[in-house]
Amino acid sequence: MDTKKKIVVIGSSNTDMVIKSDRLPKPGETILGGNFLMNHGGKGANQAVAAARLGSEVTFISKIGYDLFGLQALEIYKSEKINTEFIFTDQKSPSGVALISVDSFGENSIIVAPGASRSLSIEDINKAEKKIKEADIILMQLEVPIETVEYAATIANQYGKKVILNPAPASTLSNSFLKNVHTILPNRIEAEMLSGIKVMDIESAHQAAKTIGEKGIENVVITLGKDGAYVKEKDTYTMIPAKEVETIDTTGAGDVFCGAFSVYLSKGYSLAESVRFANAAVIAVTRIGAQSAIPYKREVTL
Ligand code: ADP
Repeated sequence: MDTKKKIVVIGSSNTDMVIKSDRLPKPGETILGGNFLMNHGGKGANQAVAAARLGSEVTFISKIGYDLFGLQALEIYKSEKINTEFIFTDQKSPSGVALISVDSFGENSIIVAPGASRSLSIEDINKAEKKIKEADIILMQLEVPIETVEYAATIANQYGKKVILNPAPASTLSNSFLKNVHTILPNRIEAEMLSGIKVMDIESAHQAAKTIGEKGIENVVITLGKDGAYVKEKDTYTMIPAKEVETIDTTGAGDVFCGAFSVYLSKGYSLAESVRFANAAVIAVTRIGAQSAIPYKREVTL
């Protein structure tokens, strides 16, 4: 029987507020926009929903504020069958919010107020330690405090668990942290931040993956948008093309990729096989939205 593997996602929960308009306002300017949309987001939440829809038993460790946005998000996670036992409430901070403006060319400008995500602490990780101990995979991003992420990686390592890190938003990271990471999944921009190499083609992706690997991390998967992903698995390097699909909206593509990759890796598939599944799962780009566009297991064909 295909028993569900356990994935613990540690990260942010946000509410995205999107206004579409012909153009973006200039500093000091007020313009009338078009439609307003409110979506649930946050990289942590998106990746948790992706892993749950694609067939894993997911525990999401996160922090929300004591407000309507947080409570709504909690209901969503419950309806996705995500274990919300370790979604903590910060009585003093609001839930994370992203204010997004999108113009008629699809260009956007975004401000994120992390709110409660900023107070996800080492103590919170300690409270959830038993879940880390039971997990098959720990999946994290960088929208919560770095010391919390580093601490969780250390704990996970002590229990011999695989830590998957999506280093977003782009940051520089210490080698002592990276040695606790099993696989790092940067996009082009994040790979450049980590390696100092601008990723434009396969050759530069190879150099970037090699340089990131030299920081003490065996496995590197650089996602390359519609081109797919470049994979370093120990000493083997492979380019794995994306599926050719009609692209409508790439918001959250990386999040679906990370969730899907973790689902397959937790089942014991190789890195390359997990990347093939993740490429296939990003049929999300053929639909509008981030969390709402995340596919279910039955929709993904390799
Ligand atoms: P991010 O969303 O973090 O910037 P990428 O743009 O690199 O990440 O996309 C992540 C993954 O999503 C890619 O490796 C690929 O599998 C898939 N993807 C993204 N854009 C497309 C697209 N236009 N067509 C097909 N797959 C895509």
